[in-house]
Amino acid sequence: MDKREILAQIRAECLKCTGCSLCGTRTNVVFGKGSENAPVMFVGEAPGEKEDLSGEPFVGAAGKLLDKYLTYIGLGLGDVYIANVLKCRPPHNRDPLPEEEDACLGFLLRQIEAVKPKVIVCLGRISAMRLIGGDFRITRDHGRWFEFHGVPISAVYHPAALLRDPRKKQEMLVDFEMLEQKLKNLSD
Ligand code: URA
Repeated sequence: MDKREILAQIRAECLKCTGCSLCGTRTNVVFGKGSENAPVMFVGEAPGEKEDLSGEPFVGAAGKLLDKYLTYIGLGLGDVYIANVLKCRPPHNRDPLPEEEDACLGFLLRQIEAVKPKVIVCLGRISAMRLIGGDFRITRDHGRWFEFHGVPISAVYHPAALLRDPRKKQEMLVDFEMLEQKLKNLSD
């Protein structure tokens, strides 16, 4: 099976998932979007209202802001793959519960395994704590490089955090410039 077929199979399983109680409140499962050949994979937290309604990750206000940072370093949807830790929306956008993350994480790990990105970037602390480590602190550790099973991994602020606190936008630009440099170094 090629990458596209593997992702289609994982998606089909995910769409039927009843692994936690969020299956009872979701409108749509939000699996992932972008290119299966993407060199960089972004991992967010969980779908919000717009994502739940559309079935696509990062289509709301946070997604529009993310698009701007991608454009800033010359990336489009053909260069990235975007997924979340949770595939179903937590009611009222509350933080994911540990048992919801546990139930859902297998899908994300299989997506990473299928896409085989050169670089992973966590969007916000929830995915960073899951993929980098439980003691990850976003204000302290954003923009630093770690490893995830041999793959370079970093975290940046969640775009929704920038909407709440625009003073963080300058640091986000610096982190995206660092990502641009990392991708350049890896392709040299
Ligand atoms: N926030 C996330 O973490 N993921 C989305 O898909 C949308 C908003």
